[in-house]
Amino acid sequence: MERHEYDVVVIGAGGAGLRAAIEARQQGKRTAIVCKSLFGKAHTVMAEGGAAAAMGNVNSSDNWMVHFRDTMRGGKFLNNWRMAELHAKEAPDRVWELEAWGALFDRTKDGKISQRNFGGHEYPRLAHVGDRTGLELIRTLQQRVVALQQEDEKLHGDPEAYIKVFAECTVTRLLKDGDAISGAFGYWRETGDFIVFDAPAVVLATGGIGKSYVVTSNSWEYTGDGHALALLAGARLINMEFIQFHPTGMVWPPSVRGILVTESVRGDGGVLRNSEGRRFMFDYIPDVFKDKYATTEEEADRWYDDQANNRRPPELLPRDEVARAINAEVKAGRGSPQGGVFLDVSTRLPAAEITRRLPSMHHQFKELADVDITKEPMQVGPTCHYVMGGVEVDADTGAASVPGLFAAGEVSGGMHGSNRLGGNSLSDLLVFGRRAGAGAAAYVDGLAKRPAVTGLDEAQTEALAPLERSGGENPYEVHHELQRTMNDLVGIIRKSEEISEALQVIEKLKERAKNTASSGSRIYNPGWHLAIDLRNMLLVSECVAKAALLREESRGGHTRDDYPGMSAEWRRRLLVCSAKPDGTSITVEEDVQPSMRGDLISLFERSELEKYLTEEELAEYDAAVK
Ligand code: FAD
Repeated sequence: MERHEYDVVVIGAGGAGLRAAIEARQQGKRTAIVCKSLFGKAHTVMAEGGAAAAMGNVNSSDNWMVHFRDTMRGGKFLNNWRMAELHAKEAPDRVWELEAWGALFDRTKDGKISQRNFGGHEYPRLAHVGDRTGLELIRTLQQRVVALQQEDEKLHGDPEAYIKVFAECTVTRLLKDGDAISGAFGYWRETGDFIVFDAPAVVLATGGIGKSYVVTSNSWEYTGDGHALALLAGARLINMEFIQFHPTGMVWPPSVRGILVTESVRGDGGVLRNSEGRRFMFDYIPDVFKDKYATTEEEADRWYDDQANNRRPPELLPRDEVARAINAEVKAGRGSPQGGVFLDVSTRLPAAEITRRLPSMHHQFKELADVDITKEPMQVGPTCHYVMGGVEVDADTGAASVPGLFAAGEVSGGMHGSNRLGGNSLSDLLVFGRRAGAGAAAYVDGLAKRPAVTGLDEAQTEALAPLERSGGENPYEVHHELQRTMNDLVGIIRKSEEISEALQVIEKLKERAKNTASSGSRIYNPGWHLAIDLRNMLLVSECVAKAALLREESRGGHTRDDYPGMSAEWRRRLLVCSAKPDGTSITVEEDVQPSMRGDLISLFERSELEKYLTEEELAEYDAAVK
């Protein structure tokens, strides 16, 4: 079996993984970057809108405190406040650092990095490159990796002496020595050969879980691998009930259903209308946001030119609100012909401006749906986009509860609470990718001896099992049934009976998954790969469904038809998922969030906090502001 020894193994080559690897290497650690797909092909590359950072380039009133407040509001105050604080404070430095490494952001007229409006952000805050920001972010981070490799070539005569990429290589198990991480086990996609990494520290940066749902903006790799690897290694997942359904995915043609239509369309003036031509978002402004959003079309339209004296258009409410509103319009029979609503930018901006600001959207609709967005509206509807839940980590170091395990980016939990604001993921990757890389490096420095790799035989037997069965279940059928179940029963609007039904189906699917068989050999065999991924999707889906059943309130990316209100009692309660020791099932326990630090809670008005906090917490607030 191919074996490699590293100090730090980073699993995932999106923004979080690359930033973590760069940091670990800069701290002198021998670092491997392992990724399931091609190097450069990650969700980060697909990010369109931009990276949120309170640089104040377009509106000088912006600063980290406003960003912190917006993030907490977006997450409905369930966020890990320390993460939200670090994120708001450090995001500008991470964006400027990217610029220093060669990123070419769009510019304001006076030459600063331009920033655009996005849902839930009080000021224009997203640093962007047209609607291809993720591409520039990944290009820059990859360029930085290459620059470090060139340095290593000069210093050590080997460009891969300190940082090496293992692309199209899927990790299926984390290895341990006693309680501590000792490495990772995986296979090469092309040959099916196994590979082992001996390493005392592993950083998970594997992204999301969207492939558990039928309608999703996520691509094939996002099967919740990092979430499951962490669970199976003994780590805890939090907030798994909170799934973000992005309000605007393509609804037609069916082959591309779910593909993302960036929020920048709305940020740049696009409006949502139902089949009656009504700008329906004015009917869906929740009480907690009433004073912040325009109540007439005239005020909303004035806001684009004069943000100081007008309130924002309700199309820019946080994503959970907009997704629920679209869902309600379609359910009420006021949807578009293909089952979505209309998103129109064609009557709002000149054609040349649309193609300049939204080149990818123009291309995407022309190529995939034969729709010219400069002339006609798009049809859009909610799509499973992002998981707020993930590995519970220490905010400052990215350390999980298992010694030697770290996580950053979408696979980690806490930062976004119950709902992520658009643009806050790209900045999250940079801030916490760097911190996890530094955390892993410091952990390695503190070790007295390297842990030993164990568990290789079990990992190998588990991976080979689907190839060794004959006449078993078809993994594609099991996957499809799981996707339908999650979409229909644990989707955007949930109720107790349906979630319970989903859990029963998941139990049956777990049994069927144990018996999946993949024909063919180990050489480039997607059926085999899917059979392996099923374990992860089932574990993650069980977490989502079990936590969703327990949380008897509606908040952010978790809407219960049978518990429509938001409850102050539930706000502080975290649902924590762990795998039973044999890895076959999930248990969910309750934990309590620590109170927000006095200087942070004092950034809010009492009248706002009254909408979220219990009387006991308000008393703490009163003491803090005294
Ligand atoms: P990813 O970028 O998803 O990378 C995950 C990596 O892990 C990949 O390299 C993958 O191959 C690897 N991997 C996974 N499993 C394994 C395994 N078992 N073994 C080895 N490798 C593995 N956010 C914003 O802030 N602004 C935006 O404008 C924006 N637009 C978006 C548009 C789209 C279409 C999508 C899908 C998301 C968008 N997001 C946006 C969200 C954001 O892009 C993602 O949340 C973020 O990029 C996740 O980054 P990450 O580094 O955590 O993981």
